[in-house]
Amino acid sequence: MNSSQTPRKGYLFIVSGPSGVGKTVLCNAIVSKFAPDVVYSISTTSRAPRGGETNGQEYFFCTAEEFEKAIEREEFAEWAFVHGNYYGTPRRFLVDNLEAGRHVILNIDVQGAMKIREKFPESIMIFILPPTFDELESRIRKRNMDSEHSLRHRLENARKELDYRDQYRYAVINDDLDAAIGELTNIFAEHVQNRQAEQPATK
Ligand code: 5GP
Repeated sequence: MNSSQTPRKGYLFIVSGPSGVGKTVLCNAIVSKFAPDVVYSISTTSRAPRGGETNGQEYFFCTAEEFEKAIEREEFAEWAFVHGNYYGTPRRFLVDNLEAGRHVILNIDVQGAMKIREKFPESIMIFILPPTFDELESRIRKRNMDSEHSLRHRLENARKELDYRDQYRYAVINDDLDAAIGELTNIFAEHVQNRQAEQPATK
């Protein structure tokens, strides 16, 4: 996909941050506030569903083999290997919605975010931070639905992810949930209103 050939009318919002920081709750809050103008891109993953997760709702779940075939068919705008599993952004959904003028939220890791930024340099990049690393560690431990091995992996990755915060235009600290939702709402509102005020995009 070549972004210069794609008429993009919607904005692409990238939301990243370490595991356990609350990205999904925050993204859901934004989608319910801004629907139908803002849509959430459901990723495909080879990780097993956790209790309560449904195929097509949190993720599209598939096997590693199916994921690798989808990579070959170039079905992803980006994909990455995170915590030992594949995760990817379905390309068609992303492009179709942007072309239809809807804004799309990607809740993706820092590797995926860097790849998307290359293809979509106008992406609005938002990093979600925990109040402290200790607080993050206790949140990750509390919600631990994975094995001890995977838990350690997530904590290590969380430290590495935090190193990328300077690559992002906005940083939102998720200490008080309502305050973080309020901050994110302001960021989205500003961009969504700007785009509405602009002329329709041309090729
Ligand atoms: P979880 O397994 O906890 O749902 O997600 C683990 C990590 O994978 C999170 O940081 C999440 O943002 C990231 N992730 C989810 N979907 C994608 C995707 O499509 N691409 C990339 N690169 N990362 C993703």
